[in-house]
Amino acid sequence: MSRITGEEAASDATAEDGPTDAAPDDPVIDLEDVSFGYTATPVVDDISLRIDPGEYVAVVGPNGSGKSTLLKLALGLRRPDEGAARLFGEPAHAFDDGDRIGFVAQQASAATDMPITVREVVEMGRFSHVGFGLLGGRDQRIVTDALETVGMGDLSDRRIANLSGGQRQRAFIARALAGEAELLVLDEPTVGVDAESVAAFYDLLESLNEEGITVVLIEHDIGTVTDHADRVVCLNRTVRFDGPTAEFVESDAIRQAFGTAAALAGDAR
Ligand code: ADP
Repeated sequence: MSRITGEEAASDATAEDGPTDAAPDDPVIDLEDVSFGYTATPVVDDISLRIDPGEYVAVVGPNGSGKSTLLKLALGLRRPDEGAARLFGEPAHAFDDGDRIGFVAQQASAATDMPITVREVVEMGRFSHVGFGLLGGRDQRIVTDALETVGMGDLSDRRIANLSGGQRQRAFIARALAGEAELLVLDEPTVGVDAESVAAFYDLLESLNEEGITVVLIEHDIGTVTDHADRVVCLNRTVRFDGPTAEFVESDAIRQAFGTAAALAGDAR
């Protein structure tokens, strides 16, 4: 990490950067009549979905129901065959301000053998804010704050490979916070994480959401979803339910989408 020094000049010039230039009324995610298929058969069919700033939305559905594909369309990684996808008010495929989005994947797919420390991972969140410059004092303060926010201040010098699953996921959230992400997208982030760390992880997500960060959580565990999200989008090629979590719990959507009462026990796979 030889780019990092105590030099402040480069980053202080960017002090006005950040979420303030967002048009506050734009939806974060806006899908309009979107259909998409990898082959001739659509796996996402005529979906309209609008997620506004500050929402905490869970996307649920059985395996193969199109959750990851929907996410790729929403983030512009795939283009709809029909309909329109917008991200922060811009066509999703043309969106190029990736810092506004923090992505936390399943930890199984996270690189665990990188020989770098927690702090260095979080510092990566600042790099695009300084262009090809150096991380300055303000950047370092933002990194320190992000580490404190996720409760990793004491572990900042530890190698990422030597963390527990829950700690590693919190480090990736800290990287997104250091990048001043406005949208956190999480794809089953606590698979394989011990129960106590899972609780701490969702407490953290909740407090970040209360501070205004939009949270979109792809999750197969219905119990987790109903405990934490404000709104549920239940998917199975089309949207089967979209509304407040309390209404989802009382609706027939879980049984319809998953086709099994086992879903109610919290294991929808
Ligand atoms: P989920 O995330 O809900 O498990 P996906 O969006 O991954 O669902 O998959 C939806 C459907 O699209 C599945 O039938 C899956 O097999 C298919 N699919 C996903 N990715 C690809 C791909 N890259 N190429 C072809 N088919 C794919």
